[in-house]
Amino acid sequence: MTVDLLVIGAGAAGIAAARAALAAGRSVRVLEARDRVGGRALTDHSLGVPFDLGATWLHAAEQNPLVPLAPTVGVALVDSDALRNEITFAGMRPVTPAEDAAYGVAWNAFEAAIEARAARGPDIPAADAAPSGGPWDATIAAWQGEVIAAAPLAAISLHDFAATLLEGGNRLPEGGMGALLERLGAGLPVTLSAPVATLRWGGAEAVAEGPFGTLRARAVICTLPTPLLSAGAIRFDPALPAEVMQAAHDLPLGRAIKVGLHAAGEDRLGLPAHTSTDRQVRPGEAMVPITFWPRSQPIAHGWIGAGVAPDIEREGPAAAEALMREEIAKRLGHDAPRAFRPGALVSAWGTDPLARGVYSHARVGAAGARAVLAAPLAGGRLVFAGEACHPTLAGTVGGAWLSGEAGAGIALAA
Ligand SMILES: Cc1cc2nc3c(=O)[nH]c(=O)nc-3n(C[C@H](O)[C@H](O)[C@H](O)COP(=O)(O)OP(=O)(O)OC[C@H]3O[C@@H](n4cnc5c(N)ncnc54)[C@H](O)[C@@H]3O)c2cc1C
Repeated sequence: MTVDLLVIGAGAAGIAAARAALAAGRSVRVLEARDRVGGRALTDHSLGVPFDLGATWLHAAEQNPLVPLAPTVGVALVDSDALRNEITFAGMRPVTPAEDAAYGVAWNAFEAAIEARAARGPDIPAADAAPSGGPWDATIAAWQGEVIAAAPLAAISLHDFAATLLEGGNRLPEGGMGALLERLGAGLPVTLSAPVATLRWGGAEAVAEGPFGTLRARAVICTLPTPLLSAGAIRFDPALPAEVMQAAHDLPLGRAIKVGLHAAGEDRLGLPAHTSTDRQVRPGEAMVPITFWPRSQPIAHGWIGAGVAPDIEREGPAAAEALMREEIAKRLGHDAPRAFRPGALVSAWGTDPLARGVYSHARVGAAGARAVLAAPLAGGRLVFAGEACHPTLAGTVGGAWLSGEAGAGIALAA
């Protein structure tokens, strides 16, 4: 049997592409290497509440296609910006109102400096365009680089960084992002545990081969995470053009770890529900934002950024838990970590062989790589899609979704 469209990967991009093909009345088959859909969106329940090990927020809510879609599959959205209480610590004390105001001014100055340099200068490391020397500059650089982009600003293309700065509101899907994608993927023709090993795309029909056997398709959307593409996880026959391989190489996935702890008892450390905390750091020091009692749930979640994530991932979950507890103690005192049960829920995307990182950034000088990767091959019969292919919402579920839809449009026309 030959399908109109083969989709490789059942993450956000693959689900979007398959839904678009079905909506257009075409036959489609999704081959997914994992035993589940959702890719880098996965909701865990082992803490007794939904906990997203991967994607959590629908960013840029005003332009995010999943914001209007979620309610159509019965998933309500929560405005997390409206819930959030923010506390920044300087040492063990919350900052003063004057310090907080200075922090806000420095955030704005960072964004203005990035946008100004990106608009008129060559592509340089984003770090070189960032203000430095002020009391908050190292903290903002750690946030914007290691935490949000999951890579140090020194390793990121200024032009790509400026193009992908996220603006707008953030929404939390009730029940978790992984659960939302499961619902959006429900009923699609997906074959799980079906890793594509070889894709022959030189003829009139593409042929995918793997443990599932052989599948023929008139067009293919491939949503493989970029590190898998550049490592040759699928053998393409004929080989992919050198510029496509270079683009995949130039869009590596950053590293970050999510850590969840569950309250040991009733002690809420004097913090109101949904308290997001960070702390002023010195240049090079790790930044671990921690949210306590999100939506009144008895958990805290932390985010270990790129500076230390690779080492911590190598050491294992106990090292991630130890760092999270240390960070809690640095803010709230030596005894505060006792408010949490021993044992943490810890993500491991960097060592996950089907992800090899969290989300993409462009290397310095490679701001054009996303467009190269997204450019159709074989007259549109082979199209790459996924978060790394979106020009502005890269690194997000919304960007992956839009890229999958766009890829499907091209492939179906072909
Ligand atoms: C810890 C973390 C936090 C994040 N936080 C957010 C957030 O808050 N908001 C946000 O919008 N985004 C966030 N992201 C990013 C978001 O998860 C991704 O941008 C998005 O899910 C990527 O979707 P995708 O379809 O491009 O790729 P993926 O979800 O990676 O899908 C690709 C699929 O291809 C499959 N595959 C791999 N090899 C093969 C093969 N050979 N054959 C068949 N299938 C294969 C994989 O198993 C996977 O399911 C986060 C990511 C992580 C990891």
